[in-house]
Amino acid sequence: MSATASWSNWAGNVTAHPARLVEPRSVEDVVAAVKQAAERGQRVRVVGAGHSFTPLVATDGTMLRLTHLTGILEVDHARRRVRVAAGTRLYVLNPLLDALGLALPNLGDIDRQGIAGAIATGTHGTGVRRQGIAAAVTGLTLVLADGSVVSVDAASDPELFRAATVGLGAFGVVVEVELQCVPAFRLRALETPGRLDEVVEGYEQLVADHDHVDVHWFPHTDRVLLKRNSRVADDDPGRPQPRWRERLDDDLLSNKLYEVLNRAAAARPSIVPRLNQVSARVLGAKEYTDTSWRVFCTARDVRFRESEYAVPRASLPAVLGELRAWIDGHDVALPIPVEVRSTGADDVWLSTAYERENAYVAVHQYHRMDDGGVFAAFEAMVREHDGRPHWGKLHTLGAEDLGRLYPRFGDVQRVRDRVDPERRFANEHLAHVLGP
Ligand SMILES: Cc1cc2nc3c(=O)[nH]c(=O)nc-3n(C[C@H](O)[C@H](O)[C@H](O)COP(=O)(O)OP(=O)(O)OC[C@H]3O[C@@H](n4cnc5c(N)ncnc54)[C@H](O)[C@@H]3O)c2cc1C
Repeated sequence: MSATASWSNWAGNVTAHPARLVEPRSVEDVVAAVKQAAERGQRVRVVGAGHSFTPLVATDGTMLRLTHLTGILEVDHARRRVRVAAGTRLYVLNPLLDALGLALPNLGDIDRQGIAGAIATGTHGTGVRRQGIAAAVTGLTLVLADGSVVSVDAASDPELFRAATVGLGAFGVVVEVELQCVPAFRLRALETPGRLDEVVEGYEQLVADHDHVDVHWFPHTDRVLLKRNSRVADDDPGRPQPRWRERLDDDLLSNKLYEVLNRAAAARPSIVPRLNQVSARVLGAKEYTDTSWRVFCTARDVRFRESEYAVPRASLPAVLGELRAWIDGHDVALPIPVEVRSTGADDVWLSTAYERENAYVAVHQYHRMDDGGVFAAFEAMVREHDGRPHWGKLHTLGAEDLGRLYPRFGDVQRVRDRVDPERRFANEHLAHVLGP
């Protein structure tokens, strides 16, 4: 426990000076920290791995970091369910599940997040027949504002369960999550260069034919890197990529050399279109087969800022067309690819995929470069398509806008009033997005 710590997020765009930074060693410690904060009149925010770009965890009150609450606590082999301590990082969880012959059904691009943090913002991967990580949650144990510890699921308290799953840390401190896993599986990864127009035109067929389709479009060009991951049988003879290739691609191309190229782009933005042409060509075709989480997750060492919106999948061609026209018509340089993914619908109240099949479009800017207005322009475009912002990524929408986008928003606010009437778990950003 330390007083007046300094904290900043992964991207470095959010900093905070909490009065207390507490690292509880047990659920009882969490209860004590919440009660002490109430006695001192302080607000409480929980931080996971700090990988959100939005100021969700910023506080000048008590910041809780659940570093010590980690690991799998219980396994129900028959139902393939696990209870996991909320501070467990995904890179710790995935191998532990693997050792049990289990896996999460889908994952995002990286594995640095805490499981509770990933769930709280609706972290997702790609696959129209799959959902985001939150859809795998079957139970939550929370420490509420009054210090009580409650375990909720779809049967015992469906309202609190559905509100607090993608809950932005606004309903209490999640100390345990129960996850519905699937048998461990392997994926065949196929990565090929392609053209944006062709990929957009054939997108519906692509996502029908492959379990997980991930498109990386290099702005200022018509080039994409198309990633298609498909599930294979256990006895499929496919092999992992050789270690040297993995290192070359991940350490060098995606991270070390990539950082050098991005620094060059920051020094001379005019080289970006040419740079993107070259980058798209250098990342050549490759094919390999490996355990699911090794294929889903890669290292991302180059720092950036990001905005990502979910739009109905039918809107994807229009959104990409508008974005491309805007970039081509403005004096802006974007060295990092725009990422396009899709998922199926779910029933989690604040999930971007609530009762909607989405395409996700993510715009990035290298952290040392100005965004040139692209984030604001992008937000204006997707607004016309009922775009729902990723809760952890840059956006300016407030409670009024979000209320129109989420049919159960009023219920979310009602549950919040029930469990946190004094707004122990609030901050300025939460007041903006969920209401005071
Ligand atoms: C390099 C990079 C790659 C990314 N890739 C993807 C991707 O592929 N797909 C995607 O959807 N997103 C992606 N993200 C976004 C990221 O997954 C989310 O922002 C996620 O919330 C980060 O998890 P975290 O553990 O860092 O949580 P934090 O950012 O620390 O916190 C997020 C929220 O969770 C709450 N929270 C955390 N722990 C608890 C708890 N125990 N109890 C209650 N509330 C809690 C916090 O209060 C906060 O509101 C990426 C981000 C980065 C920086």
